[in-house]
Formats: sequence, structure tokens, C-alpha cells
Amino acid sequence: MKKKELIYEGKGKKLYKTDDENIVIAEFKDDLTAFNAQKKSCESGKGSLNCQISSLIFELLNQKNINNHFIKQLDENHMLCKKVKIIPLEVVVRNIATGSLSKRLGIKDETKLPFSLVEFYYKDDLLGDPIINDEHCKIMGILDSDDDIQYIKNIAREVNNILINFFDSKGVKLIDFKIEFGRDSNNNIILADEISPDSCRLWDKESNKKMDKDIFRENLGNVVDAYQEILNRIK
Ligand code: UDP
Repeated sequence: MKKKELIYEGKGKKLYKTDDENIVIAEFKDDLTAFNAQKKSCESGKGSLNCQISSLIFELLNQKNINNHFIKQLDENHMLCKKVKIIPLEVVVRNIATGSLSKRLGIKDETKLPFSLVEFYYKDDLLGDPIINDEHCKIMGILDSDDDIQYIKNIAREVNNILINFFDSKGVKLIDFKIEFGRDSNNNIILADEISPDSCRLWDKESNKKMDKDIFRENLGNVVDAYQEILNRIK
């Protein structure tokens, strides 16, 4: 399928039209941003690693009947996807406290949570992606029913359970991750965007070594080498 006009360019991906109005091509970029794009870099090869890792994870989720936008990987950094209208929510699932959770609530870094926590952040760069609750979602019209809210939380927990086991079998701990959902042409809510070391915290099971975007956030070393190791382990 041919790449046609650019529809949208985000921080990590470009989206292109195809001949089919319900199908788009996602191109994964080498750009890296953190702290609401205040910190920026470009790491050659990062986009293709994220495309390959995301494709493998979406394939796994498809096999487990988690409805998602992935159709197939086209080449190293292009993915064919169902077109969706993205719901402006970052759905974060946490197994171990770190990052903004530890900072905001003073929960000691690396504390194992008694159960997996699902949080919603409103996707709005100007507002700095504020944390919101179910009622904010309804008041703001982001999601209009309790059923939709419950559905998204349930899928987020299911994805978490699948990915915890998957990464565990590869010697990796899934600390937390962010996912996004969209509505397809039938208005059904499906999982979209990407699932990659840019959007997950992944620590080596034995050494707790970070293998994700925190390497970039905290200047801990080479992002591309770490993402390559994740790909090698899950491939
Ligand atoms: N995350 C993301 N995009 C964002 C914010 C967070 O992919 O815009 C991911 C992040 O990589 C981590 C999880 O969501 O896996 C939770 O991030 P947190 O809220 O702790 O934010 P941070 O400390 O990264 O600012």
C-alpha cells in the first residue's frame, strides 16, 4: 500500500494517508522528547527499533484478542494501521511506583504497588497533560459513558497482565506504561498509538538496569543500544 499525503506529525510519528480511507501508514521517527518536549534529541535507528518492538507487541495483543489498530509492519520504520480518531487520554498503568507517581505522592521509588494502578492524563501539551479522574473525563466529554471508562480500564489491565508475563519471560520487569485508544470507523474503541520503550518503563529483572526512555530523560547512556537489547530479547 502506497504512502500518500501527510495527515499528522506528532513527537514520535508521522501519519500518512493511503488509498484506503480507513487505513493509515505510521512512520516512526528518530526524534526523542521528554518533559513536555523541553528536552529533545534525535537518535539514529530509534524509530525503526520502536516500530519493530511495537509491531511485535501489537501482534501478541492481537493473538490475545485485544482489539488494536495494528494491521502489519511494512518495513523497518513503517506500520500499516486502521485509521482511528485518537481519544485525548494517556492511560497509564503502574505496577511499581516511580516517576511522577513517586514525586507527586511521595511514594518511595521502586515500591511494589499492592495492585496495578490505572491513571488517566488529559493529552494536552499546553496544559502539560494533567492527571484527571473518571468524572473529569465525562464533564469534558473525553469519554461519555461509565461503560466506555470501564471498558478502557479493563483493557488497560488486560494489556498489563499480558505484557507483565511476556516481558517476564524475556527477563524484563514491566514497571509502568502508557497506552492510547481511538475510535475506528464503526465508532468502536480500540487500542492505538504505540507500545515501545518510549512509552514503557522496562527494567532488567536481575540488575534493575533501565532499558527505556528514562535513559534519555536521566542521561544514563545510549538509548539505541538499550532499545536494541529489548528487541533482541523479545524477537
Ligand atoms: N509516559 C509516556 N508519555 C508521556 C508521559 C508518560 O509514554 O507523555 C509513560 C512513561 O514512559 C512511563 C509511564 O507513562 O512509562 C508513566 O510516566 P510518569 O507519569 O511517571 O511520567 P514521567 O515521570 O515520565 O514524567
